[in-house]
Amino acid sequence: MEECIFCKIAKGEIPCKKVYEDDKVLSFEDINPKAPVHVLVIPKKHIESLNDLSEEDSYIMGHMMLVIKEIAKKVNIHDSGYRVAINCGKDGGQEVPHLHLHILGGKSLNWPPG
Ligand code: AMP
Ligand code: ZN
Repeated sequence: MEECIFCKIAKGEIPCKKVYEDDKVLSFEDINPKAPVHVLVIPKKHIESLNDLSEEDSYIMGHMMLVIKEIAKKVNIHDSGYRVAINCGKDGGQEVPHLHLHILGGKSLNWPPG
């Protein structure tokens, strides 16, 4: 997946404002934030979307869920609250074909998103 921008970020070939990293996932600030705090979390493994998950990805997805609260602490939205979103496909608004979750906060967010 040489063309994938998030794979390149995971490999350090494209810079990012890193928030958190371990052997399985990377979190960094969104380049075009949609809220005062907007960070992304990606698996280092290239998985295109939710539609492409397989049973063997269960551990990495569970791990992604577990690191959210640590990332939220780092960016100071753990106590004030935040939203986590995963966009999938065209109608879901997915622009980058490498699975990622958005963590948004820093203000009271609108619901439903529309
Ligand atoms: P989605 O629409 O769910 O695919 O979200 C893709 C997100 O990636 C958008 O919010 C973009 O602003 C963000 N994005 C795209 N390129 C970069 C980049 N190089 N560094 C950080 N965020 C990026
Ligand atoms: Zn990728």
